[in-house]
Amino acid sequence: MMDRTHLKHHLEFAAELGVAGMSRDQAWRRRPADPAAAAPAAAAVEAEPLRFVKNAAAALVAVRTEIGDCTRCKLHAQGRRQIVFGVGNAEADLMFVGEAPGADEDAQGIPFVGRAGQLLTKIIEAIDLKREDVYIANVIKCRPPGNRNPEQDEVDTCEPFLFQQVDIIKPKVIVALGTFAARALLRTLDPISRLRGRVYDYRGARLIPTFHPAYLLRNPASKREVWEDMKVVRKLLTQ
Ligand code: URA
Repeated sequence: MMDRTHLKHHLEFAAELGVAGMSRDQAWRRRPADPAAAAPAAAAVEAEPLRFVKNAAAALVAVRTEIGDCTRCKLHAQGRRQIVFGVGNAEADLMFVGEAPGADEDAQGIPFVGRAGQLLTKIIEAIDLKREDVYIANVIKCRPPGNRNPEQDEVDTCEPFLFQQVDIIKPKVIVALGTFAARALLRTLDPISRLRGRVYDYRGARLIPTFHPAYLLRNPASKREVWEDMKVVRKLLTQ
């Protein structure tokens, strides 16, 4: 259950994104909850054989264990504090992939916890999901010094672990956050402005490139396009 502050932020962000049909009218607020969003989710949790839940989660733990205290690329010696593996539901239908941990993520060991992460949380909530419902990871798992862009050798070394995460989680939809993630996943040099607005097939999932939340903090006008992308995500999740 959302608390009042949480709900207020959710509504404000949805309104900022240009969500149509939002109203403070009592009748609108008393409308029946979306049955697909509420009851069946609880039923699905009960119906899901536990061994499947355990297997995906255990498989992710095995990948994390394999990574260990990684020294495979030069980033281990360039000031990273810890590996930021990924967080969320091991069986998520929706996965977000960012670029690389920043300072906050490096300190906490969790992806997208800084200002950009808080905006990502709002984006997730704008399509009526919670952070715990989705899985969040990055193309590379260690913070590059000074938040510089990851270099190709670092991507080449680290990417196989992201592929393993995708193959274990088997999301229906992957959202690539920003130019770097979209380029890395789609193996292209096109800018995000050219890549977004289309749906791609990627390792058994549908991939949607969108703007990185850090870009949105600098360019709030682009939230509208992200909202358009998220509406496509929401639709694909119901198919
Ligand atoms: N930016 C990213 O791409 N990933 C994070 O985890 C945080 C900020």
